[in-house]
Amino acid sequence: MKAAAFSYQRPDSISAALDMLAGTDGAARIMAGGQSLGPMLNLRLVQPQLIVDIAGLPELRMIDRDGGSTLVLGACVTHADIEDGRIPDVTNGVLPRIAAGIAYRAVRNRGTIGGSLSHADPAADWVTTLAALVAGVRLTSSAGRRELAVTEFIQGALQTALRPGELVTAIRLPSLPPTARFGYAKACRKPGEFAHAMAAVLIEPDKSRSRIVIGAIDRKPIVIDDSSLFGGANTNLRQRFDCDLADRLLMQAGVTDPAARHIHVSVLARAIAEAAA
Ligand SMILES: Cc1cc2nc3c(=O)[nH]c(=O)nc-3n(C[C@H](O)[C@H](O)[C@H](O)COP(=O)(O)OP(=O)(O)OC[C@H]3O[C@@H](n4cnc5c(N)ncnc54)[C@H](O)[C@@H]3O)c2cc1C
Repeated sequence: MKAAAFSYQRPDSISAALDMLAGTDGAARIMAGGQSLGPMLNLRLVQPQLIVDIAGLPELRMIDRDGGSTLVLGACVTHADIEDGRIPDVTNGVLPRIAAGIAYRAVRNRGTIGGSLSHADPAADWVTTLAALVAGVRLTSSAGRRELAVTEFIQGALQTALRPGELVTAIRLPSLPPTARFGYAKACRKPGEFAHAMAAVLIEPDKSRSRIVIGAIDRKPIVIDDSSLFGGANTNLRQRFDCDLADRLLMQAGVTDPAARHIHVSVLARAIAEAAA
């Protein structure tokens, strides 16, 4: 199947892109890497009148430091940019590792971190990972700029807090201290496919803080902060891990299939074991 006809524009600045969006009354669609939008267009799941292609905007490929300890990544930084180390790694290797596990190289060459978050596929690696890393999202419109936590930005499966006329322009990543520990696991039917279970765990002993995120659950990820459920930051998470509680949590989140829950719990146990090792 082919996409329905649409107009195509490549603005030369963020403000030009915002003007194009503002002038179309919701009939325009942003394109970044096109790795999710392309299939949606071809399947005619979306039929915009105008595509605004932002992939070439240098402002959206920038990398900056905010206050020294926060890395600001332009929304159109690609998965491959991160995988190949073209951006400074403030996460002790977490970012390149996650990027390298997304789909396969052709997708990573074009797919962007901002596009992945904006699309908000529950099984997207950045959705779960950036939630665990306590990252933020910068949204820009002609009315101004706002900053949201990733956990506020992602509102459900394919649902975000993006308002009409708004662009994701940057991702803000706090630096991890060397003592931080991270665990990540996912289950895919075959390499390169979207996962059907994933979990990320961040333990920051210096801040007595931990965060556990369960993704790929057809709704916004489950986020557990400093949970007594799985133990605090300085306790032995592996020893305390309670499969039954994890199972109940998934059940409450609407995962009704016991086999699916079993896979999620196993994946979570692997992520916790890695972070707590
Ligand atoms: C075969 C295949 C396998 C894949 N496997 C995985 C996987 O294992 N893990 C994974 O995480 N991902 C996977 N993906 C998705 C991939 O990571 C995409 O790159 C990503 O979901 C979308 O990024 P994009 O830059 O291509 O966005 P696009 O496809 O261009 O856009 C996606 C959506 O986001 C909107 N959008 C894009 N950028 C912005 C912005 N800056 N501001 C506002 N709205 C915006 C668009 O309007 C569109 O609705 C896979 C994709 C394919 C084709």
